Amino acid sequence: MNIHIHTADKVIFYSISFMLIASIGSFIGVCIYRIPRGESIVGGRSRCPHCGGILKIQNLLPLVSYIFQKGRCCYCSEIISPFYPFIEILTAAVLLLIYTTAGFNKILLPYWFLASLLLVTAFIDLRYMYIPNGIIFTGLIGGSIMKLVLGTSGLGGIFLGIFAGAFPMLAIYLLRPGGMGAGDVKLAAVMGGILGWQHVLLALFLSFFLGAFAGIFLVLLGQKGLKDPMPFGPFLAMGRMLSMTLGGWIIPWYSSLILI
Ligand SMILES: [Zn+2]
Repeated sequence: MNIHIHTADKVIFYSISFMLIASIGSFIGVCIYRIPRGESIVGGRSRCPHCGGILKIQNLLPLVSYIFQKGRCCYCSEIISPFYPFIEILTAAVLLLIYTTAGFNKILLPYWFLASLLLVTAFIDLRYMYIPNGIIFTGLIGGSIMKLVLGTSGLGGIFLGIFAGAFPMLAIYLLRPGGMGAGDVKLAAVMGGILGWQHVLLALFLSFFLGAFAGIFLVLLGQKGLKDPMPFGPFLAMGRMLSMTLGGWIIPWYSSLILI
């Protein structure tokens, strides 16, 4: 399922899609900035933190505006954080990758919804070491409604997914205090509800693998001690991205291993 660009039409189509998706990235950037500060994510225009001027960058074309204004505020010429174009490019890359593997079908919307939530969660967790409850509720309720309306899953499937996501994490949380945050357990429940039990188990496995790998790497580099806490949210996010993009190939493979 590679993207084959045969004609100029497709180039235009993908360019427009990329800009639309980067706009989602722009909103994700706003969420990452505002949610930890307790600000509304829907009301108010983004303002320059230096002069208070309303940022045109946030409201016009993402990336293009940033490049056009050379990354500076159009009022006071102070530098605007390169995090914004970074998150726009990252979001576009992640959502396009999911599209190329999941294809254009009903599951795409819940998958994009979850990917967006996880991008917000991962960056807030990395910086502030917590996962906001608002994101959890949005994911559980929004994800369930989306799946029921689109008819991709029944209520039973959603609950099974939530259980499959939350149970292993809850067990670790209770058995090994300090090893896992309560937010991680809740996030795994959200992932399970949207992904379904097969994908969420794969996502959890990949998350642990990535987390352990990064942990060993940081200890070897002398950046972390063996007992230091590490935010697990980013690894949950990455594990889930991998499960969503590569799951189509990995799940049949490991199912065949288990069933043989
Ligand atoms: Zn300014």
